[in-house]
Amino acid sequence: MSDRVPEERERIVVIDDDYVMRLSCRQILTKSGFEVETYEDGAQGLAGVAETKPAIVVVDLKMPGISGLEVISRVRQIDPAIVLIVITGYATVSTAVEAMKSGAYDFLPKPFKPDELRLIVDRALERRRLQRRSRELEMEREFMKRRFVSFVSHQLKTPLSAIHQYLEVLSRLGEDPAVAEQRDEWLRRCLVRTQGMRELIDDWLTLARAEGPGLVAEREPLDTGPILEALVESNAEWAEAGGIDLSVELPAGAEGLAVAGDRNCLTVLFDNLINNAIAYTGAGGEVRVRGRLDPGEVVVEVEDSGVGIPAESVERLFEEFYRVNGASSPGRNGAQDAGPGRSRGTGLGLPICKRIVSELGGRIEVESEEGEGSTFRVRLPAYRERVEPGADAEH
Ligand code: ADP
Repeated sequence: MSDRVPEERERIVVIDDDYVMRLSCRQILTKSGFEVETYEDGAQGLAGVAETKPAIVVVDLKMPGISGLEVISRVRQIDPAIVLIVITGYATVSTAVEAMKSGAYDFLPKPFKPDELRLIVDRALERRRLQRRSRELEMEREFMKRRFVSFVSHQLKTPLSAIHQYLEVLSRLGEDPAVAEQRDEWLRRCLVRTQGMRELIDDWLTLARAEGPGLVAEREPLDTGPILEALVESNAEWAEAGGIDLSVELPAGAEGLAVAGDRNCLTVLFDNLINNAIAYTGAGGEVRVRGRLDPGEVVVEVEDSGVGIPAESVERLFEEFYRVNGASSPGRNGAQDAGPGRSRGTGLGLPICKRIVSELGGRIEVESEEGEGSTFRVRLPAYRERVEPGADAEH
């Protein structure tokens, strides 16, 4: 590790009144691939830190002029992300502890070997990277949260305005039988819109639950086969109305496709995939649901001959609210074709699927060709009877 060159040349500032110490720190750290600036007192050092914005500051505690402790607190004011390492003589170990309390990361007693300096600098850099990553994640989370709230509000406002307009006109129509057909149509559209809002709120709440206790409530042995069969049956009418051939293929043997899961979650997972396959497949198309057992895994594939997904969109499918080509999602069978009680989709279905699969210890894969169709493949750990402890003690 000692002579490795960092990917990007990180800058280190060394502040020490001892010339030999400055020289040796420079040699050791330059050799390790760092860019090193040295300063002989606190005042110059602080000016250098402000100017060069280093990743790490190595500072001697005992210097004439501005003390090491003062340098530490001023460096932290300049940039709290700079990691501080204190060099100290044996006599001042207690001051070093004080230095750490005021924000230094670690200390190195004099005299030290080159490897000891390299090691401590490597650790400080690792800490800086971790801190930066966790700040980035926090910012990302904040951004997502804000985007999420404004997106959900927008998604709810649009259908609400539409419903409001329909109701306003309906309230003025009166009982005239000549407009009865029109009235029915508008009422039907209102119902579709309210259904969409309900689905959005349900999905939103589901995802909020995933942030907390998680979605999978139970881990009981369950055969996936009958769940898939029931889902194909419940979606059959909708598929048929859209001219889509929907079928399920399961292994002939009676061994089953058992996983340790939660019936509700497995149903939501596979229903979402089957729903999407039907929704994004035109009349005359096919949707095949297949279950099989791979070594140690239950594999479920939902394959359609529908619109497919552009390559650049595949990796974004599991992002919340992502829809290919935006909200309109061309190729989706609109609410009109989607059968009673079905709306236009929320863009939250696949993120929910991904959470469920990952909570169950599996993974989800997508293969798709634009214009040809898509296959969503779920791999879940197969359920194994628990082996009694000591059962294989003979080995
Ligand atoms: P939605 O509610 O919009 O269907 P999902 O999260 O379930 O949201 O899916 C996200 C997007 O992925 C969809 O809007 C659609 O663009 C695309 N998609 C999902 N499944 C398929 C599929 N089987 N065929 C083509 N596109 C699909």
